Amino acid sequence: MAYDATNIFARILRGEIPCNKVYEDEHVLAFHDIAQAAPVHVLVIPKGEYVSMDDFTANASPEEITALFSAAGKIARDLGVAETGYRIISNAGEDGHQEVPHFHVHVLGGRPLGPMIKRA
Ligand code: AMP
Repeated sequence: MAYDATNIFARILRGEIPCNKVYEDEHVLAFHDIAQAAPVHVLVIPKGEYVSMDDFTANASPEEITALFSAAGKIARDLGVAETGYRIISNAGEDGHQEVPHFHVHVLGGRPLGPMIKRA
């Protein structure tokens, strides 16, 4: 799938729309999800143009990949959920119910999150 530069996270990265920033470095931006599904719900995104986890891990540099996963772990520690437990989710494609076609991981926690997925 080709990257669509009009997606909402691309617009956040360009500064065209605001976000509630949690963390930023050379390769990564993290911000609170606009529709919080849990008391802690942060989106961690690469600054580069990648659609999904499979695109990111195939095409990003080792520095970008390290930066993204290091940031997710740091955010879990900094926001206190490393103590109580948390979940990392990355939705991809149609079956994964991905809404925004810029790779992101959700960091969710702050309450018991229940079973991993709804059974069909
Ligand atoms: P998904 O692509 O299914 O992993 O979900 C995309 C997530 O982005 C959803 O949880 C939305 O609530 C969230 N979202 C969409 N627009 C914004 C925005 N402008 N700021 C923060 N989060 C957003």
